[in-house]
Amino acid sequence: MLDILIHNATVVTQNSGREVFSPGMVGIRGDHIALVRGAGVDADRDALLPEAKETIDAAGCILMPGLINAHTHLPMSLFRGLADDLPLDLWLNEHIFPAEARFITPANVRTGTLLSCAELLLGGTTTCCDGYFLESEVAMAVADSGMRAILGQGVIDFPAPGVGDPADNVAHAAEYVKVWRGRHERITPAIFCHSPYTCGSKTLRGAKAAARELGAPFLIHLAETRGEAGMIVEAAGRSPTHYLDELGLLDNGSLLVHGVWLDEADIQRIAASGAAVAHCPESNMKLASGVMPLSDLHTAGIHVGLGTDGSASNNDLDLFGEMSTTARLHKVMQRDPTVADAHQVLAMATSEGARALGMDAQIGSISKGKLADLVIVETRTPHFTPMYEPVSHLVYAARGGDVRHVMVGGRWVVRERQLLTFELAPVMAEARAVAVHIQGRA
Ligand SMILES: [Zn+2]
Repeated sequence: MLDILIHNATVVTQNSGREVFSPGMVGIRGDHIALVRGAGVDADRDALLPEAKETIDAAGCILMPGLINAHTHLPMSLFRGLADDLPLDLWLNEHIFPAEARFITPANVRTGTLLSCAELLLGGTTTCCDGYFLESEVAMAVADSGMRAILGQGVIDFPAPGVGDPADNVAHAAEYVKVWRGRHERITPAIFCHSPYTCGSKTLRGAKAAARELGAPFLIHLAETRGEAGMIVEAAGRSPTHYLDELGLLDNGSLLVHGVWLDEADIQRIAASGAAVAHCPESNMKLASGVMPLSDLHTAGIHVGLGTDGSASNNDLDLFGEMSTTARLHKVMQRDPTVADAHQVLAMATSEGARALGMDAQIGSISKGKLADLVIVETRTPHFTPMYEPVSHLVYAARGGDVRHVMVGGRWVVRERQLLTFELAPVMAEARAVAVHIQGRA
């Protein structure tokens, strides 16, 4: 007996064979997928639906794996639209870092995180990989939201929210990992070094050593801007990637975020190390940081996930929009419409994203035995009509607003576009109140 059966949907599995069942059915038992099958193969069998406590007829909808956002800063939704149209160094040093120093309190972190989780879940994202300060507060809010996440405590060599003395930054992050390890089934604690230009070599080595010892993922912004690359070359005599590699920071437990300024030698280093990369094209475009050489990373066999980055540099958390941007950006940059095809890009937000996060045994495709992180997308709309190829529409025509229902670990978190896990109106009211405060003092 199944707990939930979803049938009559176009099932885009994102499994290794990229099978699409149209129509197909998916059965859920407890927190995992217990049945995946196409209809129309065996008429006798199709006449009788498998028994389930709840049966959903998803005619006119696409059933797909929950999207995976490989890079976020959840509490930064509070700074959405606070400072736009600026280069990264000005934006960060004169707007974001000062606003964080004044307004990142435990209560505000909770508000910003819940707001982001609502946006993510309502838009079909079921897992994210986050890095920020006061990450314990982030973790409690994520747990309440119903999302799944890798959550990295921020490490930076200057006083930060929750860590007044930078000398304590690595110990603080290690303590956070110990507290959250094994504590909640949907949360994986991690360590997030801000970047090679805001953390010294001792901090970088110490943070990676702690992550390795604790078996926690290690996250870091890398080679985001040309200015960063120049700074590290000047200080260390090598590229940021070469520098991190020499410090022993690159291995299959590391997720490198951005990777815009990489040369061929850098790409080979990353490929040889087994490290994965999170691609954040909209943030890189908005801050005019540059364009990651995506095709070269793919050719080298590097697992690349897709991230939005924080809402202050995007300015939304819609992975459908991010997929569309990714496909178009690389085509125009390479003047080649065959690169970053729809299948490749959808994989970056599902199966490949799961590989980049080291979670492919649990999530990333609709496969028997995997966790039931599922999204149902409405297709009976003008912009989905007609539908020759569902994957094409998911990448080039869909938006987060097309998502009707969302499930994480077999539990409904969104039904008919309504969030079920917490009350959203008071969170938005609180975010507006915080913004008044920020605007008055910023
Ligand atoms: Zn970032």
